[in-house]
Amino acid sequence: MSLAGSAAVVTGAGSGIGREIALRFAGAGARVAVCDVNAAAADATVATIRAAAGEAVAILMDVTDEDAVNEGVDRAAEAFGRIDTMVSNAGIQIVHPLEDFPYEEFRRVVDIHLGGAFLLTKACIRHMYPRKSGSLIYMGSVHSHEASPLKSAYVSAKHGILGLARVMAKEGAKHGVRSNVICPGFVKTPLVEKQIPEQARDLGIPEADVVSRIMLGNTVDGEFTSMADVAELALFLAGFSSNALTGQSITASHGWHMG
Ligand code: NAD
Repeated sequence: MSLAGSAAVVTGAGSGIGREIALRFAGAGARVAVCDVNAAAADATVATIRAAAGEAVAILMDVTDEDAVNEGVDRAAEAFGRIDTMVSNAGIQIVHPLEDFPYEEFRRVVDIHLGGAFLLTKACIRHMYPRKSGSLIYMGSVHSHEASPLKSAYVSAKHGILGLARVMAKEGAKHGVRSNVICPGFVKTPLVEKQIPEQARDLGIPEADVVSRIMLGNTVDGEFTSMADVAELALFLAGFSSNALTGQSITASHGWHMG
């Protein structure tokens, strides 16, 4: 699928899944705004894209800062002349049993995932609606559909993203804007590596069991979902050009969740 001539904004594109999506989009011909709160990481993704003859700009953006989101998206629109695809992907994970979950940390997780998705959507549709075209892609999770212990903040935020995306499918339709959610299973990124010792501590089980039982136990083949798989789905959603596919969530999890 070609994205030649189009432009995309991807948050959290300095690492993991977001980085892979930025590289995949650029490889398919899109110009990519690589947004991240970590400037060095965003620069490194841009350098990789440019080394492969792709086009990208690095944008320092904390997705919870409304001014930074508006300015960053406007800069991308200025640089590329358009915004065709939004990928709201920036995220963090914090795990605690609810009785020990500091409210401040709960709010931080929800602010980044859900508040960030709201702000980014608001900034991007200003550039999509006048052109009567656009694809909103949200990074959900199997935790948009299922719950796990210790993850009250993350599960709440990821369920909320489904609601936001469905509202945007209805509001965006008359403006030619589609809205969908990708729901990956466990993908080996820094976000997941960090949870292994934390969950082992909180659940009182060995780290190997966190991987084999919690992360992969429900899969059909004991395998992690790959960043490449998730990037391929994002490419598909970016390129799909009619309202036939809107308001949906697509799960890629080796069967960890079926639904
Ligand atoms: P990651 O830690 O590798 O990358 C996350 C990126 O987001 C980092 O570059 C980080 O700097 C950036 N970021 C964090 N807070 C930010 C903020 N306030 N503003 C802008 N950027 C910020 O993590 P990942 O695993 O690639 O996760 C990416 C997305 O995929 C997240 O939304 C996550 O919830 C989702 N996801 C991950 C998995 C998985 O197993 N790894 C599974 C399902 C969903």
